[in-house]
Amino acid sequence: MKINFYNSLTNQQEEFKSIQDGVVKMYSCGPTVYDFAHIGNFRSFLFGDLMRRFLELVGYEVQHVMNITDVGHMVEGEADKMLAAASRVKENKKSGRVPEGAIEDPNDPYQIADYYTKAFLDDANKLGYKVAAEYPQSMPRATDYIEGMIKMIERLIERGHAYVASDGVVYYSVESFPEYGNLSGNTMDKLQSGAGGRVSDQNQSMKKHPADFLLWKPDQKHIMKWESPWGVGYPGWHIECSVMAAEKLGQDVIDIHTGGEDLIFPHHECEIAQSCGCSGESHFANYWVHARFLFVEGDKMSKSQGNFYTARDVFEGKVTGKPVHPAVLRFELIKSHYRSNMNFTKKGLTDSANTVMKLIELRQELESKAEGKMAEVDLSNPVLNDFATALADDLNIAGALAVMHTWIKSDHSDPALSLAIWDKMNSVLAIAPIGGEGVSDADDGGSDDEGEAMRLEMVAAREAKDYAKSDELRDKLIAAGYDVQIGKTEVTIKKKLA
Ligand code: AMP
Ligand code: ZN
Repeated sequence: MKINFYNSLTNQQEEFKSIQDGVVKMYSCGPTVYDFAHIGNFRSFLFGDLMRRFLELVGYEVQHVMNITDVGHMVEGEADKMLAAASRVKENKKSGRVPEGAIEDPNDPYQIADYYTKAFLDDANKLGYKVAAEYPQSMPRATDYIEGMIKMIERLIERGHAYVASDGVVYYSVESFPEYGNLSGNTMDKLQSGAGGRVSDQNQSMKKHPADFLLWKPDQKHIMKWESPWGVGYPGWHIECSVMAAEKLGQDVIDIHTGGEDLIFPHHECEIAQSCGCSGESHFANYWVHARFLFVEGDKMSKSQGNFYTARDVFEGKVTGKPVHPAVLRFELIKSHYRSNMNFTKKGLTDSANTVMKLIELRQELESKAEGKMAEVDLSNPVLNDFATALADDLNIAGALAVMHTWIKSDHSDPALSLAIWDKMNSVLAIAPIGGEGVSDADDGGSDDEGEAMRLEMVAAREAKDYAKSDELRDKLIAAGYDVQIGKTEVTIKKKLA
């Protein structure tokens, strides 16, 4: 199957070819663990997940790695960053997002990072983000790779790509790498000021070129600090990804690198300069694929506008007024094309809930009709072939979902075959657990014990003609998120997903 992805490096669609036959090495920039991940972060992460699951559907073995940024990149120096992290912990405690006592010392960056790493993994696993299920193997933490960062910086100095400035700070010399700017279009002559990004660059005058970026900063006073040949201090932000990609994927050149669009410059530009500067290769990743930003009801998500949502806010009903099943949020976040700005809306969530419900009901129906039988199916099946062909066109999810919706409505005369098709589609969509994959805790829209008890009470009340009690129980069930159907003799309930 011919696969195309839009490569930010060449600004065009390109046919995807892996370096090694049948294997894809893929790296995604991961979360900064100084706060909860928001739905915009997850939009970027889940597009990578969709890409990975699609590549697996068409037969690749995908080695996917994503880092956890627990070093903390500086905005305007250490004090500010730590104060900001500590004040966010306080804010989160106030709003109830972080329970009292959860982070004993909000001034300890290790405690903060540990807490939010765990929170990230919880949310990511609920959302069926496959790489999170492979933690820690495929999700390295930056603080465990300081030695590798030091080695890479030494090598960059040896190869003439980095230098120690007169104040002892180690910088990457962008002039030593003529390709600098190829990804973002920010070529050296266009760059007026530093490309340090989130890493503080207070000493512009010490640099050879204003765009030179920090690799190591000696700083005894820093809270997170390590020994190095350049003194006790901390690494720059960009170096962690170059090191973890090389160490974890075991190759100087990888197939795919993903991230949100804001990472193109300076972060990815600097990653390329470091990795290629070190390896001498012309490429770090052959395909650079970036997701556009998520908006909320048409606006940029921001704390000040009150439309800033974490994944757990959505799960817990803080956004829509009722709990949202993680499968619904996952579906909502993957259903629009990664290269269009996604608009997150309550209406969109409701639509997603309906689709997820429809899919789950179909599976239940097929399961009961198939009577334990399950067919074998592969991409030679025309429905699956159409589904995969749509995704092969730069992850055309709308096309794939159109194939799926038409298929849902078809007659399913061979339930064992339909069941197998369902499971294959779900290996990409991941809205229900399949062989340990997909969305954990996915309930099937049925009822739990408490709901079932109320339903039985309601049936008894109706038999006793106590309609007031029956109505009261019906209202309680509805308030608990159930859809209640009253028949002549039966009462059926179904938990709504959102
Ligand atoms: P961070 O934890 O800030 O380093 O961000 C993690 C990932 O989320 C990066 O790939 C960002 O590009 C991405 N990201 C941040 N904000 C948004 C947003 N509003 N929409 C989509 N992706 C985002
Ligand atoms: Zn990165």
